[in-house]
Amino acid sequence: MAERPPKIKVGAFEVAFLADGFWRNDGGCMFGVVPRDLWKHNHPPDEHNRIRLNLTCPLIVKGADAILVDTGIGNRLSSVERQIFDHGDGWLPEHLRALGMEAGDVTHLIVSHLHFDHCGGIVRRRNSGVLEAAFPRARIFVQKGELEIAGDPRNERLRAAYRHAAEVLAPVRSMLEAIDGDTDIVAGVRAVVTGGHTRDHQAVLVSDAAECFMHLADIVPTRSHIRGPWNQAYDLDVLRTMEQKAHYLGLAAEQRWWLSFAHDDTVFAAMVKNDRGRIVLGDTVPVSERLFQSFQ
Ligand SMILES: [Zn+2]
Repeated sequence: MAERPPKIKVGAFEVAFLADGFWRNDGGCMFGVVPRDLWKHNHPPDEHNRIRLNLTCPLIVKGADAILVDTGIGNRLSSVERQIFDHGDGWLPEHLRALGMEAGDVTHLIVSHLHFDHCGGIVRRRNSGVLEAAFPRARIFVQKGELEIAGDPRNERLRAAYRHAAEVLAPVRSMLEAIDGDTDIVAGVRAVVTGGHTRDHQAVLVSDAAECFMHLADIVPTRSHIRGPWNQAYDLDVLRTMEQKAHYLGLAAEQRWWLSFAHDDTVFAAMVKNDRGRIVLGDTVPVSERLFQSFQ
C-alpha cells in the first residue's frame, strides 16, 4: 500500500501535500546570483550541476471542495526532456489514490503560473499519444495576464519559457477561467497575485478560524529561498519577488502561518520564525523518501 501524503489542518480545511515526484534542474538557475559554494551544501549538485527538486502540489479539502494548487510536470515530456530533467512519470494520480480520491474528485485547480513544471500535469498523455484533461471535472483558474503572455510571448526569453503552453492548454480550453487580480476561489481560499517570478504569478492563501496557510509557489521555491537575496535566475522582476516574499514571510512569522515550498526536496511545508531580524525555519512537514520510493 502506498504511503499517504502528509496533511496539516488549517481551521476547517485539510491540506495534503501531494507531489509530482522529484526532478533535477540547474543549481545556478535556481539560485541566481548566489555563488555555488554557498548553495551546494544544502543542495548538492550532480555531475551536470543539477540539484534535486520536488514538485509540491498542495490539495486543499473541505466538504465537497477539493482544490489542487499546481500540477507539476506530468507525463507529457519527450524522452530527451525526461533525461534532461531526470523526471519519471507523474505521480499525482497515485498520491490522490493513496488519499482515497481520484482525478475526477478535484473540483478546482489553481495554477500559479504557466511554466512547464507547474502546468504540465494539467493534461495527461494517453498510451495512444493523445493529451486529455488530467482532472476532468476541475474548474481551472489562471491569471488573465499570464494566459495572455503565454499565448503571445513578446520576446525570445518569454517564448522559451512558454513554448509548451499551447499544447498543455488546448485540451482544457473550455475548463479555463481567466481571473484578473486577487480572487476568492471558494470562501477561505484566495488566489493572490504576487508578480515577481512572472508578471502575473499568483500564490494561494487559505485562512479559516484565525489559522493560515500559504503556498508561495515560485516566490519561495525551496527552504533556502527564505533568505532575501536568494532568488531564481528565472525571476523577471527579482526586486518584486524580494518585496513580496519579505511581506508574506513577515506575516507568516508573526501570525504562525504554515508555508509550503514548490520545489524543496526535503521539506513540504514549514512555519517560520523571526530570529533577531532573520527569517528561519520552525516546525516542518518533512518530505518522506518513502513517499516517493513507494511509487517507483
Ligand atoms: Zn517552478
